[in-house]
Amino acid sequence: MNRDSTSRRRFLLMSSLLGTGLLGAAACGSTTTAERTATDAARSPAPKPSPRNAPGRPAPEPDVKTAIDDVTFKVDTDDPVVFLTIDDGVTRHPDTADILKEHDLKATLFLTDQYVRQDPGFFRDLRDRTGSLIENHTLDHPDLTTLPLEGQQRQIGETSDRYQREFGRRPTLLRPPYGEFNDDTLRAAEDSGVRHVVHWSAVIDEGAIEYAAGDRLTSGDIVLMHFREAFREDVERFVEEAERSGLRPALLEDYLK
Ligand SMILES: [Zn+2]
Repeated sequence: MNRDSTSRRRFLLMSSLLGTGLLGAAACGSTTTAERTATDAARSPAPKPSPRNAPGRPAPEPDVKTAIDDVTFKVDTDDPVVFLTIDDGVTRHPDTADILKEHDLKATLFLTDQYVRQDPGFFRDLRDRTGSLIENHTLDHPDLTTLPLEGQQRQIGETSDRYQREFGRRPTLLRPPYGEFNDDTLRAAEDSGVRHVVHWSAVIDEGAIEYAAGDRLTSGDIVLMHFREAFREDVERFVEEAERSGLRPALLEDYLK
């Protein structure tokens, strides 16, 4: 089986798993449970039919102009590794870097530019002290599927331009807000120099974990958490779950080239 049909099968499997559960609507960008719930209800209603995430529908043929022809939900590897990703940047505890360093963790930081602008030094320091990397999570966290191609190109392209200026490295990964994307998202990501569009296969929030499948982490899982009040609790749960599953935390960018 070639790579494309393998990744498509995986994509369809993960789409059907994610489309029906809590994972498909994991919250982003708000500070309290109440706000998150309201935001999710308003902006990410239960399974949204779109060409790429409607369970049971065949995946469209790749557009020849789009080199990114699928979304990564989980890394295809036999190495016993698991990846920590941290989104948005709303709540910035002064001890964030210390907490990651205590556990010798590097993370992939999918930052929204509106929060980076509030305190770029915080994220630069976090990157420098932990070896984490800063990636693209748009300018101000829209549901990209509500925007035309040009709007998506602005959200993704301007963020990469700004991060390149601010941090000296152009993002290679994009996580679309709310995990919502369509073909234009992949095209806009490609246009901005992004090489992989990344979803997730497990979510940690307030110390609790939800899996896309099964009851533990497995090789290649991508774990989503946020910069929130329960940051320490969430990081500790990630470390605990990785240990319980016999997996070693690794940096996503070392596997998604
Ligand atoms: Zn988000």
